[in-house]
Amino acid sequence: MIKPSERAMGVEYAIRDVVLPARELEKKGIEVIRLNIGDPGKYDFQPPEHMKEAYCRAIKEGHNYYGPSEGLPEMREAVVQREKRKNGVDITPDDVRVTTAVTEALQLLFGALLDPGDNILVPSPSYPPYTGLVKFYGGIPNEYETIEENGWQPDIDDMRKRINERTKAIAVINPNNPTGALYEKKTVKEILELAGEYDLPVISDEIYDLMTYEGKHVSPGSLTKDVPVIVMNGLSKVYFATGWRLGYFYYIDPENKLAEVREAVDKLMRIRICPSTPAQFAAIAGLTGPMDYLEEYMKKLKERRDYIYKRLTEIPGVSTQKPQGAFYIFPRIEERSKWKSDKEFVLDVLHEAHVLFVHGSGFGRAGNWHFRIVFLPPVEILEKAMDRFEEFMRKRMAE
Ligand code: PLP
Repeated sequence: MIKPSERAMGVEYAIRDVVLPARELEKKGIEVIRLNIGDPGKYDFQPPEHMKEAYCRAIKEGHNYYGPSEGLPEMREAVVQREKRKNGVDITPDDVRVTTAVTEALQLLFGALLDPGDNILVPSPSYPPYTGLVKFYGGIPNEYETIEENGWQPDIDDMRKRINERTKAIAVINPNNPTGALYEKKTVKEILELAGEYDLPVISDEIYDLMTYEGKHVSPGSLTKDVPVIVMNGLSKVYFATGWRLGYFYYIDPENKLAEVREAVDKLMRIRICPSTPAQFAAIAGLTGPMDYLEEYMKKLKERRDYIYKRLTEIPGVSTQKPQGAFYIFPRIEERSKWKSDKEFVLDVLHEAHVLFVHGSGFGRAGNWHFRIVFLPPVEILEKAMDRFEEFMRKRMAE
């Protein structure tokens, strides 16, 4: 038997891990309502027409070659325009790098920052690749608390306590997956102050930046004076093009503290050749084109968010915060006597009610005894899922 690496065997991705038992049920002809994957393209959301046309046109006109490792100059310029509009940042195309979506940006940045034993502050709970990839690169995910009762805002005191001499960066995911939290301006400022005190860069995941309900997203990039900030974003959420696998990141680094890190990242970018060339043409169209489609999509999402929130507040045995951004809700399991863990709970819901959620512990320590629901499907589907879930909870609680 040829042994795989321990590094690879240690990798877990809760969101897709729960699909296997769901598939077993589906093989038996059972209809499972899957509310586990945050992919708008699986429901009634599509990238806007002007992006689709630009993608097809690029392929037909022969833009099927390798591009520069750091991204096409026109794409980097489009990112500058978009980010100046959104965050008011003072950057040039030279500060921008184009990637095979945010996931690759994470690989490049963690790969360039971490030696074995180093750590990165990541929110708890958080999108699983943060802990998974930090570990894969030999680092330690240093999970900071977020305060559930306060809409899952980061706990700055806890962050401070966790910083040590091997800490290389502070990661911020805002709006957050899995909690749907939107960080207050005051919190973002406090994170920057803390990073400044310890001379750490802030890595800011803004993939859901324009997907907010009542409030507006505030980027640390828009507030920083001297603290280096690396902002990541891409086409997957706000542009509804998950499968195109395109994203970018940029450095705001007035004092040039990241010069060596930039060099390391560029080395890694060269050995992976380049991001998709035709997808960059689609991205240019998206980043510089009209955004009116988003208004209609956000109206649909808000209706779905309001619906699922209302239903969950009426179901016994669970409680929930109201998400302020993204398309996830992260309820807490209050009734705990019937199950040994949140994973057992989620599997029980799957087998009994045929609805697929993701167990909260898959998102890190603070996710324990929670579960994540994706509220992308239309209300009729959410209604069916919540009817089944409500019946399940009432039955279990009467047992
Ligand atoms: N970052 C966060 C917070 C996410 O929730 C996701 C996907 O769900 C990603 C990054 C992945 O983004 P991409 O498709 O750009 O790799």
